Amino acid sequence: MAEKRTEIGELGEFGLIERIHQQVKLANTSSLKGIGDDAAVIDLGNEYLLWSTDLLAEGIHFDLAFTPLQHLGHKAVSVNVSDIAAMNGKAEQILVSIALSNRFSVEAVDALYSGIYAACEQYNVDLVGGDTTASRAGLIISVSILGRVAKDKVVYRSGAKPNDIICVTGDLGAAYTGLQILEREKEVFLSNPNMQPGLEKYQYMVGRQLRPIARTDIVFELEEMGVKPTAMIDISDGLASELFHIGKNSNVGVRIFEDKIPLDAETYNTAALEFKIDPVTCALNGGEDYELLFTISSSDADKIKNHPDVHMIGYVHDKPKEFLLITKQGNAVPLTAQGWDHFR
Ligand code: ADP
Ligand code: MG
Repeated sequence: MAEKRTEIGELGEFGLIERIHQQVKLANTSSLKGIGDDAAVIDLGNEYLLWSTDLLAEGIHFDLAFTPLQHLGHKAVSVNVSDIAAMNGKAEQILVSIALSNRFSVEAVDALYSGIYAACEQYNVDLVGGDTTASRAGLIISVSILGRVAKDKVVYRSGAKPNDIICVTGDLGAAYTGLQILEREKEVFLSNPNMQPGLEKYQYMVGRQLRPIARTDIVFELEEMGVKPTAMIDISDGLASELFHIGKNSNVGVRIFEDKIPLDAETYNTAALEFKIDPVTCALNGGEDYELLFTISSSDADKIKNHPDVHMIGYVHDKPKEFLLITKQGNAVPLTAQGWDHFR
């Protein structure tokens, strides 16, 4: 009898992680939170250690045709710092592992590390080790990060309560639009190598894609304002996907308002006019914005309502399967997100 073979595509990324998760039994009481949040939470007695890792693979996460190695190094650190911020913690150390083919020179590695060092300085994080190996094909960068948070300050994906207000920082959809621009310019260049890419007018969007910045500032400011989010996640896969994560883990539903989703004007015009894609779709499903999505108790709304970079986009309710977008016309449409089919 032939052995059963299931394609990974049938489960999807989240289905696969869920399958691994179900088979894991935590044996140590110090393993407070394992799989399922932005970082694992380790109980050190007087405080919590936050521990997370993220891997970037050439051809999957980045295209070296348009990704400067400095930016790539910086981004590899930023995406990890972002996961610590999403737990309301502060990042302190990273390990960096790289796999390289002989296509890369010492100067290329120097460029990659100059971005890593710049990010370390920016976030006040120390590079304390890693691993180096050869690779037959592309470049792979894996960063692991350690952070810390006081026990009463940690924020999970699971704490959202009905009537909480849903907040998002910055603006969304620019990183995805930036990627569309870079891919378009690459095609132009490939068809005519004498053409120089005209990226100046797209600096913001391209920058959002190539060199995202983790919102450690928001973690600090929320603390200053005396606001502890009830749930938090960073936006790596898109607003819709992250709303599902918070909803599922908190056993609640959400309602968000299309006209409240923060969009940058340039991004709006570029997505709509040049790429004929709905800017709201870029925000909901584009991903890689690395902004923070969090919920707060409605009693904290006054404290943040004047913050220029925090936007209230909707609220939490008690029907766990109801994830709705209220359109500008006032219609309620179910939110959808890639990777969540198994959840329906
Ligand atoms: P994020 O987007 O915040 O980096 P992911 O979607 O990558 O989070 O991962 C979600 C959760 O699943 C995290 O807790 C992560 O540690 C865990 N996870 C992801 N891949 C694996 C794996 N191969 N084995 C064990 N845990 C995993
Ligand atoms: Mg995350």
